[in-house]
Amino acid sequence: MSTTKTIINYNDYKVSVKSRQYLNLSKFTNTQIEKLIEENKIVFSHSSLKKYLTCPYKFLLDNIFRIKELKQFDIDAGIWGNIFHKAMEKFAEIFSKYLIDYNFAEISSMKQNIIENTMLNLSQYFSNNYRIFRYRSEFKQFEKNAQSYKEFLNKEIDRRISLYAKPGAVELAFGIPSINNEENSKSNLLIKSENDKYLEIEDGQHKIWICGFIDLVDIIQVNNISNYLIIDYKKTSDFNKYKEIVNLFTFRNLEEIWTKNSINKESTFPILNFTNTDFQLPIYIMAMKRIFKIDNINSALFYHLFSNQFAGFVSQELSEIFHSVNAKNKIYNNVRKNIENSEIDMIVDNAEKLIKLIVNQMKNGVFPISPDISHSKTSKTPCDYCPYISICRINSN
Ligand code: SF4
Repeated sequence: MSTTKTIINYNDYKVSVKSRQYLNLSKFTNTQIEKLIEENKIVFSHSSLKKYLTCPYKFLLDNIFRIKELKQFDIDAGIWGNIFHKAMEKFAEIFSKYLIDYNFAEISSMKQNIIENTMLNLSQYFSNNYRIFRYRSEFKQFEKNAQSYKEFLNKEIDRRISLYAKPGAVELAFGIPSINNEENSKSNLLIKSENDKYLEIEDGQHKIWICGFIDLVDIIQVNNISNYLIIDYKKTSDFNKYKEIVNLFTFRNLEEIWTKNSINKESTFPILNFTNTDFQLPIYIMAMKRIFKIDNINSALFYHLFSNQFAGFVSQELSEIFHSVNAKNKIYNNVRKNIENSEIDMIVDNAEKLIKLIVNQMKNGVFPISPDISHSKTSKTPCDYCPYISICRINSN
Protein backbone atom coordinates (compact mmCIF):
# COMPACT_ATOMS: atom_id res chain seq x y z
CA MET A 1 0.00 0.00 0.00
CA SER A 2 1.46 3.33 -0.94
CA THR A 3 -0.63 5.66 1.11
CA THR A 4 1.91 6.44 3.81
CA LYS A 5 5.02 8.53 3.80
CA THR A 6 7.86 8.35 6.26
CA ILE A 7 6.92 10.22 9.40
CA ILE A 8 9.56 12.83 9.89
CA ASN A 9 8.14 14.85 12.69
CA TYR A 10 7.52 12.49 15.57
CA ASN A 11 8.50 14.98 18.21
CA ASP A 12 5.05 16.35 18.60
CA TYR A 13 3.33 12.99 18.45
CA LYS A 14 3.20 9.88 20.44
CA VAL A 15 2.09 6.50 19.24
CA SER A 16 -0.35 4.82 21.53
CA VAL A 17 0.64 1.52 23.12
CA LYS A 18 -1.69 -0.40 20.86
CA SER A 19 -0.06 0.85 17.72
CA ARG A 20 3.52 -0.09 18.61
CA GLN A 21 3.24 -3.20 16.51
CA TYR A 22 2.53 -1.01 13.48
CA LEU A 23 5.45 1.34 13.93
CA ASN A 24 6.90 0.24 10.64
CA LEU A 25 4.05 1.91 8.82
CA SER A 26 5.45 1.52 5.32
CA LYS A 27 5.16 -2.27 5.68
CA PHE A 28 1.54 -2.12 6.68
CA THR A 29 -0.62 -3.97 4.18
CA ASN A 30 -4.24 -4.00 3.10
CA THR A 31 -4.54 -7.57 4.32
CA GLN A 32 -3.57 -6.47 7.81
CA ILE A 33 -6.25 -3.78 7.74
CA GLU A 34 -8.80 -6.27 6.44
CA LYS A 35 -7.85 -8.63 9.27
CA LEU A 36 -8.15 -5.89 11.90
CA ILE A 37 -11.63 -5.04 10.62
CA GLU A 38 -12.78 -8.63 10.28
CA GLU A 39 -11.54 -9.51 13.76
CA ASN A 40 -13.38 -6.43 15.07
CA LYS A 41 -10.16 -4.91 16.39
CA ILE A 42 -11.45 -1.73 14.82
CA VAL A 43 -14.77 -0.64 16.24
CA PHE A 44 -16.44 2.21 14.38
CA SER A 45 -18.42 5.18 15.63
CA HIS A 46 -20.47 7.79 13.83
CA SER A 47 -17.59 10.26 14.13
CA SER A 48 -14.90 7.88 12.83
CA LEU A 49 -17.08 7.03 9.81
CA LYS A 50 -17.63 10.72 9.21
CA LYS A 51 -13.86 11.23 9.47
CA TYR A 52 -13.38 8.79 6.59
CA LEU A 53 -15.77 10.87 4.50
CA THR A 54 -13.94 14.06 5.45
CA CYS A 55 -10.52 12.62 4.61
CA PRO A 56 -9.80 8.85 4.36
CA TYR A 57 -6.10 9.40 5.01
CA LYS A 58 -6.87 11.16 8.28
CA PHE A 59 -8.91 8.10 9.29
CA LEU A 60 -5.95 5.87 8.46
CA LEU A 61 -3.55 7.90 10.62
CA ASP A 62 -5.92 8.29 13.52
CA ASN A 63 -8.02 5.13 13.70
CA ILE A 64 -5.78 2.50 12.17
CA PHE A 65 -2.22 3.65 12.91
CA ARG A 66 -3.51 5.28 16.09
CA ILE A 67 -1.13 8.19 15.96
CA LYS A 68 -2.28 10.50 18.68
CA GLU A 69 -1.51 14.08 19.54
CA LEU A 70 0.38 14.63 22.74
CA LYS A 71 -2.02 16.23 25.16
CA GLN A 72 -1.03 18.25 28.18
CA PHE A 73 -2.98 17.48 31.29
CA ASP A 74 -5.04 20.53 31.95
CA ILE A 75 -8.63 21.45 32.60
CA ASP A 76 -9.24 21.64 28.88
CA ALA A 77 -12.35 21.80 26.73
CA GLY A 78 -12.73 17.99 26.94
CA ILE A 79 -12.90 18.08 30.73
CA TRP A 80 -15.40 20.93 30.69
CA GLY A 81 -17.40 18.82 28.25
CA ASN A 82 -17.31 15.86 30.67
CA ILE A 83 -18.46 18.09 33.47
CA PHE A 84 -21.35 19.33 31.34
CA HIS A 85 -22.42 15.75 30.64
CA LYS A 86 -22.13 14.91 34.32
CA ALA A 87 -24.31 17.94 35.09
CA MET A 88 -26.93 16.57 32.71
CA GLU A 89 -26.78 13.16 34.32
CA LYS A 90 -27.24 14.60 37.81
CA PHE A 91 -30.02 16.86 36.57
CA ALA A 92 -31.92 13.99 34.91
CA GLU A 93 -31.78 11.93 38.10
CA ILE A 94 -32.92 14.81 40.29
CA PHE A 95 -35.67 15.83 37.86
CA SER A 96 -36.97 12.24 37.74
CA LYS A 97 -37.09 12.07 41.53
CA TYR A 98 -39.13 15.28 41.65
CA LEU A 99 -41.50 13.82 39.07
CA ILE A 100 -42.30 10.96 41.43
CA ASP A 101 -43.78 13.42 43.95
CA TYR A 102 -45.04 16.19 41.69
CA ASN A 103 -46.49 16.51 38.22
CA PHE A 104 -45.38 18.65 35.29
CA ALA A 105 -47.82 21.45 36.18
CA GLU A 106 -46.38 21.77 39.70
CA ILE A 107 -42.74 21.32 38.89
CA SER A 108 -42.32 24.87 37.63
CA SER A 109 -42.37 26.13 41.22
CA MET A 110 -39.59 23.65 42.13
CA LYS A 111 -37.26 24.99 39.47
CA GLN A 112 -34.80 26.71 41.80
CA ASN A 113 -34.62 23.66 44.10
CA ILE A 114 -33.88 21.38 41.18
CA ILE A 115 -31.16 23.67 39.84
CA GLU A 116 -29.52 24.17 43.23
CA ASN A 117 -29.62 20.47 43.97
CA THR A 118 -28.01 19.69 40.61
CA MET A 119 -25.27 22.28 41.10
CA LEU A 120 -24.52 20.95 44.58
CA ASN A 121 -24.18 17.43 43.21
CA LEU A 122 -22.00 18.72 40.44
CA SER A 123 -19.56 20.56 42.70
CA GLN A 124 -19.26 17.42 44.88
CA TYR A 125 -18.50 15.41 41.74
CA PHE A 126 -15.94 17.98 40.65
CA SER A 127 -14.09 18.05 43.97
CA ASN A 128 -14.05 14.22 44.14
CA ASN A 129 -12.72 13.78 40.62
CA TYR A 130 -10.50 16.69 39.70
CA ARG A 131 -7.58 18.36 41.37
CA ILE A 132 -8.12 21.78 42.84
CA PHE A 133 -7.56 24.74 40.59
CA ARG A 134 -3.97 25.74 40.02
CA TYR A 135 -4.68 29.13 38.61
CA ARG A 136 -7.15 31.84 39.30
CA SER A 137 -8.08 31.75 35.61
CA GLU A 138 -9.20 28.11 35.99
CA PHE A 139 -11.40 28.99 38.91
CA LYS A 140 -12.86 31.92 36.96
CA GLN A 141 -13.53 29.55 34.08
CA PHE A 142 -15.29 27.11 36.41
CA GLU A 143 -17.46 29.91 37.78
CA LYS A 144 -18.31 31.07 34.27
CA ASN A 145 -19.19 27.54 33.16
CA ALA A 146 -21.27 26.97 36.30
CA GLN A 147 -23.27 30.08 35.44
CA SER A 148 -23.90 28.77 31.89
CA TYR A 149 -24.96 25.37 33.28
CA LYS A 150 -27.49 27.11 35.49
CA GLU A 151 -28.89 29.08 32.55
CA PHE A 152 -29.02 25.89 30.51
CA LEU A 153 -30.84 23.99 33.30
CA ASN A 154 -33.41 26.75 33.46
CA LYS A 155 -34.18 26.36 29.75
CA GLU A 156 -34.05 22.58 29.99
CA ILE A 157 -36.68 22.52 32.76
CA ASP A 158 -38.94 24.81 30.68
CA ARG A 159 -38.47 22.56 27.65
CA ARG A 160 -39.42 19.48 29.66
CA ILE A 161 -42.49 21.12 31.12
CA SER A 162 -43.69 22.29 27.68
CA LEU A 163 -43.27 18.81 26.13
CA TYR A 164 -44.13 16.75 29.23
CA ALA A 165 -40.80 15.05 28.65
CA LYS A 166 -39.45 12.65 31.27
CA PRO A 167 -35.75 11.75 31.15
CA GLY A 168 -35.49 8.13 29.93
CA ALA A 169 -31.69 7.91 29.67
CA VAL A 170 -28.62 10.11 29.85
CA GLU A 171 -25.22 9.24 28.37
CA LEU A 172 -26.56 5.97 27.08
CA ALA A 173 -23.56 3.91 26.00
CA PHE A 174 -23.35 0.89 23.73
CA GLY A 175 -20.24 -1.05 22.74
CA ILE A 176 -17.87 0.74 25.13
CA PRO A 177 -16.79 -1.97 27.63
CA SER A 178 -13.94 0.16 28.98
CA ILE A 179 -16.37 2.55 30.64
CA ASN A 180 -17.32 1.93 34.22
CA ASN A 181 -21.03 2.35 34.24
CA GLU A 182 -21.81 1.60 37.82
CA GLU A 183 -23.60 4.91 38.42
CA ASN A 184 -25.65 4.56 35.26
CA SER A 185 -26.80 1.07 36.20
CA LYS A 186 -27.88 2.26 39.65
CA SER A 187 -29.72 5.35 38.41
CA ASN A 188 -33.49 5.54 38.46
CA LEU A 189 -33.60 6.18 34.69
CA LEU A 190 -35.55 3.69 32.65
CA ILE A 191 -33.03 2.76 29.96
CA LYS A 192 -29.58 1.56 31.06
CA SER A 193 -26.34 1.43 29.09
CA GLU A 194 -25.30 -1.80 27.38
CA ASN A 195 -21.54 -1.37 27.39
CA ASP A 196 -20.79 -4.88 26.16
CA LYS A 197 -23.20 -4.85 23.24
CA TYR A 198 -22.11 -3.48 19.87
CA LEU A 199 -24.43 -2.31 17.17
CA GLU A 200 -23.81 -4.91 14.48
CA ILE A 201 -24.19 -4.47 10.74
CA GLU A 202 -24.11 -7.69 8.72
CA ASP A 203 -21.55 -7.56 5.95
CA GLY A 204 -21.40 -11.00 4.37
CA GLN A 205 -19.79 -13.35 6.86
CA HIS A 206 -18.52 -10.48 8.95
CA LYS A 207 -20.33 -8.15 11.33
CA ILE A 208 -19.24 -4.51 11.46
CA TRP A 209 -19.14 -3.33 15.07
CA ILE A 210 -20.23 0.16 16.01
CA CYS A 211 -20.17 1.86 19.39
CA GLY A 212 -21.68 5.11 20.64
CA PHE A 213 -23.01 7.38 23.33
CA ILE A 214 -26.49 8.84 23.15
CA ASP A 215 -26.61 12.11 25.10
CA LEU A 216 -30.26 11.96 26.05
CA VAL A 217 -33.43 9.97 25.49
CA ASP A 218 -36.71 11.61 26.49
CA ILE A 219 -39.98 9.81 27.03
CA ILE A 220 -43.11 11.71 26.02
CA GLN A 221 -46.53 10.24 26.69
CA VAL A 222 -49.19 10.78 24.02
CA ASN A 223 -52.55 9.04 24.52
CA ASN A 224 -50.97 6.83 27.18
CA ILE A 225 -48.33 5.59 24.77
CA SER A 226 -44.64 6.23 25.47
CA ASN A 227 -42.85 7.94 22.58
CA TYR A 228 -39.06 8.10 22.65
CA LEU A 229 -37.00 11.06 21.49
CA ILE A 230 -33.21 11.03 20.99
CA ILE A 231 -31.35 14.28 21.66
CA ASP A 232 -27.73 15.03 20.86
CA TYR A 233 -26.12 18.21 22.22
CA LYS A 234 -24.03 20.35 19.90
CA LYS A 235 -21.66 23.10 20.94
CA THR A 236 -20.43 23.94 17.46
CA SER A 237 -20.02 27.49 16.22
CA ASP A 238 -21.70 26.44 12.96
CA PHE A 239 -25.06 24.87 13.69
CA ASN A 240 -26.23 25.60 10.13
CA LYS A 241 -24.58 22.45 8.86
CA TYR A 242 -26.84 20.39 11.16
CA LYS A 243 -29.88 22.20 9.82
CA GLU A 244 -28.69 21.30 6.32
CA ILE A 245 -28.14 17.68 7.28
CA VAL A 246 -31.70 17.47 8.43
CA ASN A 247 -33.10 19.26 5.41
CA LEU A 248 -31.18 17.26 2.87
CA PHE A 249 -30.61 13.98 4.64
CA THR A 250 -28.27 12.71 2.03
CA PHE A 251 -29.22 9.15 2.81
CA ARG A 252 -32.54 9.75 1.14
CA ASN A 253 -30.65 10.75 -1.97
CA LEU A 254 -28.15 7.93 -2.03
CA GLU A 255 -29.78 6.17 -4.96
CA GLU A 256 -29.84 9.49 -6.80
CA ILE A 257 -26.13 10.10 -6.16
CA TRP A 258 -25.30 6.64 -7.42
CA THR A 259 -27.35 7.09 -10.56
CA LYS A 260 -26.13 10.62 -11.25
CA ASN A 261 -22.52 9.60 -11.00
CA SER A 262 -22.99 6.28 -12.80
CA ILE A 263 -21.36 4.52 -9.91
CA ASN A 264 -21.34 0.80 -9.69
CA LYS A 265 -23.00 0.15 -6.35
CA GLU A 266 -21.36 -3.20 -5.85
CA SER A 267 -17.75 -2.25 -6.31
CA THR A 268 -17.03 1.43 -5.93
CA PHE A 269 -17.63 4.09 -3.41
CA PRO A 270 -17.44 7.68 -4.52
CA ILE A 271 -15.18 9.98 -2.59
CA LEU A 272 -17.29 12.98 -3.35
CA ASN A 273 -19.42 15.50 -1.65
CA PHE A 274 -20.73 13.83 1.48
CA THR A 275 -20.62 16.95 3.58
CA ASN A 276 -24.25 16.62 4.49
CA THR A 277 -23.99 12.98 5.34
CA ASP A 278 -23.99 12.30 9.01
CA PHE A 279 -24.38 8.91 10.58
CA GLN A 280 -25.14 9.98 14.09
CA LEU A 281 -28.93 9.97 14.21
CA PRO A 282 -29.40 6.88 11.99
CA ILE A 283 -26.86 4.94 14.10
CA TYR A 284 -28.60 5.97 17.31
CA ILE A 285 -31.99 4.94 15.93
CA MET A 286 -30.55 1.54 14.94
CA ALA A 287 -29.03 1.14 18.43
CA MET A 288 -32.29 2.04 20.17
CA LYS A 289 -34.18 -0.54 18.14
CA ARG A 290 -31.65 -3.37 18.10
CA ILE A 291 -29.77 -3.02 21.39
CA PHE A 292 -32.23 -1.29 23.70
CA LYS A 293 -35.23 -3.02 22.07
CA ILE A 294 -37.26 0.16 21.70
CA ASP A 295 -39.19 0.09 18.45
CA ASN A 296 -41.16 3.24 18.97
CA ILE A 297 -38.26 5.53 18.11
CA ASN A 298 -38.80 7.75 15.10
CA SER A 299 -37.82 11.11 16.54
CA ALA A 300 -34.32 12.51 16.91
CA LEU A 301 -32.94 16.01 17.36
CA PHE A 302 -29.68 17.91 17.52
CA TYR A 303 -29.80 20.58 20.20
CA HIS A 304 -27.56 23.61 19.80
CA LEU A 305 -26.66 24.75 23.30
CA PHE A 306 -25.59 28.27 22.36
CA SER A 307 -28.65 29.26 20.38
CA ASN A 308 -31.20 27.04 22.15
CA GLN A 309 -32.31 25.81 18.71
CA PHE A 310 -33.17 22.27 17.63
CA ALA A 311 -32.83 20.55 14.27
CA GLY A 312 -34.03 17.07 13.40
CA PHE A 313 -37.25 15.21 12.85
CA VAL A 314 -40.20 14.06 14.91
CA SER A 315 -42.76 11.34 14.34
CA GLN A 316 -46.42 11.92 13.54
CA GLU A 317 -47.33 11.06 17.14
CA LEU A 318 -45.15 13.85 18.56
CA SER A 319 -45.75 16.44 15.85
CA GLU A 320 -48.80 18.05 17.36
CA ILE A 321 -47.13 18.80 20.69
CA PHE A 322 -44.00 20.15 18.93
CA HIS A 323 -46.14 22.26 16.67
CA SER A 324 -47.99 23.94 19.53
CA VAL A 325 -44.81 24.58 21.56
CA ASN A 326 -43.09 26.01 18.50
CA ALA A 327 -45.94 28.42 17.86
CA LYS A 328 -44.91 30.16 21.09
CA ASN A 329 -41.11 30.15 21.06
CA LYS A 330 -39.90 29.09 17.58
CA ILE A 331 -37.10 26.88 18.91
CA TYR A 332 -38.30 23.98 16.77
CA ASN A 333 -38.32 25.87 13.45
CA ASN A 334 -35.78 23.45 11.99
CA VAL A 335 -37.54 20.32 13.13
CA ARG A 336 -39.26 18.33 10.39
CA LYS A 337 -42.58 17.16 11.68
CA ASN A 338 -44.83 14.25 10.71
CA ILE A 339 -41.97 12.10 9.54
CA GLU A 340 -43.29 8.73 8.44
CA ASN A 341 -41.99 5.39 9.66
CA SER A 342 -41.17 4.37 6.09
CA GLU A 343 -38.91 7.40 5.71
CA ILE A 344 -36.99 6.54 8.88
CA ASP A 345 -36.62 2.97 7.63
CA MET A 346 -35.20 4.28 4.37
CA ILE A 347 -32.72 6.62 6.12
CA VAL A 348 -31.54 3.77 8.34
CA ASP A 349 -31.35 1.37 5.42
CA ASN A 350 -29.29 3.79 3.33
CA ALA A 351 -27.01 4.56 6.26
CA GLU A 352 -26.31 0.84 6.58
CA LYS A 353 -25.53 0.54 2.87
CA LEU A 354 -23.17 3.49 3.02
CA ILE A 355 -21.38 2.15 6.11
CA LYS A 356 -20.83 -1.18 4.36
CA LEU A 357 -19.42 0.58 1.29
CA ILE A 358 -17.04 2.64 3.42
CA VAL A 359 -15.77 -0.37 5.35
CA ASN A 360 -15.24 -2.31 2.13
CA GLN A 361 -13.20 0.57 0.76
CA MET A 362 -11.07 0.41 3.90
CA LYS A 363 -10.57 -3.33 3.51
CA ASN A 364 -9.35 -2.64 -0.03
CA GLY A 365 -6.80 -0.17 1.31
CA VAL A 366 -8.45 2.91 -0.15
CA PHE A 367 -7.17 5.82 1.95
CA PRO A 368 -6.54 8.68 -0.45
CA ILE A 369 -5.52 12.12 0.72
CA SER A 370 -8.83 13.58 -0.05
CA PRO A 371 -9.97 16.32 2.26
CA ASP A 372 -13.56 17.14 1.48
CA ILE A 373 -13.26 20.79 0.53
CA SER A 374 -16.46 20.93 -1.44
CA HIS A 375 -18.37 22.51 1.41
CA SER A 376 -15.80 25.13 2.26
CA LYS A 377 -17.52 28.48 2.17
CA THR A 378 -14.38 30.17 3.48
CA SER A 379 -10.80 29.60 2.43
CA LYS A 380 -10.37 27.08 5.29
CA THR A 381 -10.22 23.38 4.51
CA PRO A 382 -10.27 20.33 6.82
CA CYS A 383 -6.44 20.40 6.59
CA ASP A 384 -6.45 23.70 8.49
CA TYR A 385 -7.93 21.92 11.51
CA CYS A 386 -6.05 18.65 11.08
CA PRO A 387 -3.47 17.61 13.71
CA TYR A 388 -1.66 15.49 11.09
CA ILE A 389 -0.70 18.36 8.79
CA SER A 390 3.00 18.11 9.76
CA ILE A 391 3.19 14.42 8.90
CA CYS A 392 0.78 14.36 5.96
CA ARG A 393 2.13 13.99 2.47
CA ILE A 394 -0.37 16.50 1.10
CA ASN A 395 2.37 19.11 1.07
CA SER A 396 5.06 16.85 -0.37
CA ASN A 397 6.00 16.88 -4.01
S1 SF4 B 1 -3.72 17.32 6.51
FE1 SF4 B 1 -5.52 17.29 5.11
S2 SF4 B 1 -5.05 15.65 3.63
FE2 SF4 B 1 -3.68 15.36 5.37
S3 SF4 B 1 -4.73 13.91 6.71
FE3 SF4 B 1 -5.28 15.97 7.41
S4 SF4 B 1 -7.19 16.46 6.33
FE4 SF4 B 1 -6.27 14.73 5.26
